[in-house]
Amino acid sequence: INVSDLVDVSYKRIADVDSKVKAFLTLDEERARDLAKKLDEVDASEKGVLFGMPNGIKDNIVTKGLRTTCSSKILENFDPIYDATVVTKLRGAETVTIGKINMDEFAMGSSNENSAFQVTTNPWNTDYVPGGSSGGSAAAVAAGEVPFALGSDTGGSIRQPAAYCGVVGLKPTYGRVSRYGLVAFASSLDQIGPITRTVEDNAYLLEAIAGHCPADSTSADLPVPPYRESLTGEIKGLRIGVPSEYIGDGVSEEMRKAVFDALNVLEKEGAVWEEVSLPYSKYALAAYYVIASSEASANLARFDGVRYGYRTDNADNLLDMYKNTRAEGFGDEVKRRIMLGTFALSSGYYDAYYKKAQQVRTLIKKDFDDVFTNYDVIIGPTTPTPAFKIGAKTDDPLTMYANDILTIPVNLAGVPALSLPCGFKDGLPLGLQIIGKHFDEATIYRVADVYE
Ligand code: GLN
Repeated sequence: INVSDLVDVSYKRIADVDSKVKAFLTLDEERARDLAKKLDEVDASEKGVLFGMPNGIKDNIVTKGLRTTCSSKILENFDPIYDATVVTKLRGAETVTIGKINMDEFAMGSSNENSAFQVTTNPWNTDYVPGGSSGGSAAAVAAGEVPFALGSDTGGSIRQPAAYCGVVGLKPTYGRVSRYGLVAFASSLDQIGPITRTVEDNAYLLEAIAGHCPADSTSADLPVPPYRESLTGEIKGLRIGVPSEYIGDGVSEEMRKAVFDALNVLEKEGAVWEEVSLPYSKYALAAYYVIASSEASANLARFDGVRYGYRTDNADNLLDMYKNTRAEGFGDEVKRRIMLGTFALSSGYYDAYYKKAQQVRTLIKKDFDDVFTNYDVIIGPTTPTPAFKIGAKTDDPLTMYANDILTIPVNLAGVPALSLPCGFKDGLPLGLQIIGKHFDEATIYRVADVYE
């Protein structure tokens, strides 16, 4: 099988199923087929592990000359003039990008219903959401359209859709992967990460995209370990903490059972687990929505009709041009976050909201540090329940926000976490979350691989 055949399989599969799944926004077929032809000339001895693999990229990661919309009307016709670092790295690994993938507008959402263009569906049952905001990436992998995809995770946007779609998704440690070329939502939380079918694929892909990047001052100058080598199958004596907050009220019975079943498997392999506590996680959701919205309100100020994308026709002075461009270009959820963030940052309220939220964030980080002095990984469910029906939560932003209660503390602490499939309930996948120490993705992979 050559690369052209692989690429052909992807486009055929997309032609067959994407009218139902609706994962892709833009296909890059001509360039992908040209690249495949070139790769078919490469000598066998020079091929790396990801050689020729087709992939899809979430539409908030910029791709030179390939429309990048963030699923927003305001960037509907935005053609970036450079590639994100992860895109350059994927090209360096001689993979082939098939196209760009749907998401919640500017990565704000948990269901893909906030896309300005289309609602991606869950491939296991198309009446259900695929999760979000990287729901398109998870659905594309689950539906077999591409073997892997990139997503981004600010409060759970890789792990929650991976859980809902029955695939493997990792949010790396903050700083592990360059954010250069990721359209910023909340810069202190955002990370790009791999979504794949297996733990092994995930390890290979992280290795390809991770590493220090001079263009991102928050990327860590640390060596990238060969993650594949951490899949030793060996977890004797490994210590697992299971937070009582992650298996208590609000988490469904089937989810709890799936987690205990997984812990049994790991115990049989020689790991030990104990209940622990992350007491401040009950404040995580509130702190996250203040911090993420505050950063978003600053980051999204750049979309003003002057520099990028959409500009209103309906204005005869500069101020109206700004106002009407933003009023017409942004969707409801994005406006809600901008208003919330602008309010939280305004003088007089800054100390009460933004500063307080940052203090809570420090306490949440300390919760994790405390547990990690005695345990190697923390395990719990990725989400309280399996996927919900399309439309079920659209009228109630707060219930939608509550969906991320188990993923958000991880972003606030900056630690890495992976979701992998751990069962089904009524035909819908359940996700197990494995959380690791800062920059210790290797141990997460080792445990995930033993379980898988
Ligand atoms: N669902 C969360 C939000 O709406 C997380 C999004 C994300 O991780 N990008 O903010």
